[in-house]
Amino acid sequence: MDEVLKKAREALTAVTPLRSDCGKVCGARCCRSMDGEVTGMLLFPGEEEAYLDKKGWQVLKTKSGLLAVCPGECDRTERPLACRIFPLLPVIRDGKVKIAADERARAVCPLLRQGIKGMDPAFREAVRQAGEVLAEKPEQRLFLEMLTAGQDELKILRERLGG
Ligand code: SF4
Ligand code: SF4
Repeated sequence: MDEVLKKAREALTAVTPLRSDCGKVCGARCCRSMDGEVTGMLLFPGEEEAYLDKKGWQVLKTKSGLLAVCPGECDRTERPLACRIFPLLPVIRDGKVKIAADERARAVCPLLRQGIKGMDPAFREAVRQAGEVLAEKPEQRLFLEMLTAGQDELKILRERLGG
């Protein structure tokens, strides 16, 4: 795994959305799949190296990119970046990195009902820092731009549906 990706992941090793365990609030909803459904986390470019041969993990190719499917529990040091930053996302707006609520997380994460300001400032800052680090590398910046475009599409859809 390259240094940029390692640095971004490390920024999120010791912080979580709340200072307490937010999984206790919701029964760790973001780590559970619905019955009969396979859900995974979108991997950042190059991140798949850490999971391809990892026991209990699968890497699936989808049209959105590579998805990691985990065994349902993990150590903080091994979880993908998508899990570390959830339910936020670093996005690129007017050429700058900003943090935003991940539109894909709205149906899952109860913390987003309070808005992102209810989350631990250290977590919000770590997501922003990870985004800054990633944005320095063209391949990762492009991926962030793709995620940002996906967020815009979901937002428009949500507004149309009155969500
Ligand atoms: S769904 Fe939200 S509140 Fe629940 S464990 Fe995941 S991040 Fe925490
Ligand atoms: S990798 Fe860990 S944090 Fe991510 S969904 Fe699986 S169990 Fe949850």
